Amino acid sequence: MCRILLLSTLFISSIISAQVNRCYTDKYIEYRNSLNPSFKNDIDSTYNFMLSNLNDNPQRDFETIRIPVVVHVLYKTENQNLTDSLVRAQIDILNQDYARLNPDTNLTREIFKPVASATGIEFYLAQFDPTGLPTNGIIKKQTDVTSFFSLTNLDVMKSEANGGADAWPTDQYLNIWVCNLSIPILNVPVILGFATPPNSAPNWPAGSGASESQYDGVVIHYEVFGSIPNATGTFESVNKGRTLVHEVGHYLGLRHTWGDPGQGEDGCLVDDGINDTPISAAANQQTCDYAMNSCNEGVDDLPDMIENYMDYSNENCLNMFSKQQVEAMRFVVENFRSDLLLSTPIISTLSPKINVYPNPANDILTLKHGLSNLTGEITIFDFCGKIVQSMKINNNNSKIDLVVNELAPGSYFIQLNSQSGVYFNRFTKF
Ligand SMILES: [Zn+2]
Repeated sequence: MCRILLLSTLFISSIISAQVNRCYTDKYIEYRNSLNPSFKNDIDSTYNFMLSNLNDNPQRDFETIRIPVVVHVLYKTENQNLTDSLVRAQIDILNQDYARLNPDTNLTREIFKPVASATGIEFYLAQFDPTGLPTNGIIKKQTDVTSFFSLTNLDVMKSEANGGADAWPTDQYLNIWVCNLSIPILNVPVILGFATPPNSAPNWPAGSGASESQYDGVVIHYEVFGSIPNATGTFESVNKGRTLVHEVGHYLGLRHTWGDPGQGEDGCLVDDGINDTPISAAANQQTCDYAMNSCNEGVDDLPDMIENYMDYSNENCLNMFSKQQVEAMRFVVENFRSDLLLSTPIISTLSPKINVYPNPANDILTLKHGLSNLTGEITIFDFCGKIVQSMKINNNNSKIDLVVNELAPGSYFIQLNSQSGVYFNRFTKF
């Protein structure tokens, strides 16, 4: 009974204030902890383990990490049925921001430019579904559910039985659910987004209920998915598609820059654990207040880093991750979400085979096909799913010679994406 009371209080206070919750990740952790009292502890110990392994002087050369994404678009009305091009544009925004190729990096103040960094993490819409069939990584599902904001079940959108969509295996894909999180009568969103932070769930004892991996991923209110240049009112300060950028930051282990103190705690005494984000007391609420300096750090005191994606500033002035945040996210992928890389189902082994020879190959690999007027693309992947070579093709020849002499010795996948389907094979370079 206490548990139900606690939850009701939490949600009713959200509704009474009719306040839009920019990010519900902290409350989501409380919610899941109310169902399984060891949840928060595990999130915290995972986080602390990550912090204790961070380099104090980060920024080394790193390889690009590529994460497959599936977007579940849940819609009741046509305006919730987001187009494929909007979904792709949102993934492009995510990639721009994570690569620090966003057009507004010039707005990062000089004092913070030395610690601003690309992440080397790239996201792509899945090319194959869990059964190996080709997909565009976007699942549209019509539903009878008016709003997925539920008083009793924050994960309602993650289940087919409740009118939502079941996750694809969450160890192999970043699942993103896009749905309506409004209060039906008022038609204002209660929540713009939330994410499940990494935990060590696979190590929990069987039956503890904690390893509910089917809930792992990110949820975004449909009206802030993608950029909305002409937004007014509620969405004016969140119109650049950066709710997803922020929530994926949580999914990869980051906390808010102000460190989320509990009720009554002094915000300046609570930190996000990241050394190159200045200590701040609380969220910068929807503004671009460059004068904000909520905590005095003594010598070398810095203002609050309102440019950081993990703050709540107006999206017009969000434009950076810090170097140590990048270290943290990469540590999380490599240690707690590594199956996203190892199990990347980039190549469908169910696709028909294309003929390649000689195998093993040294300088030239010949690809033979029976397609007329072939147009498409040939891509070579290493066994970790990383693209090592690709070329567009448009010709009438039944044989195509590929120069492979620059590839390191090893095993590779080759994929032909053509007008009549996807074909694949393996070969060895010696
Ligand atoms: Zn957040």
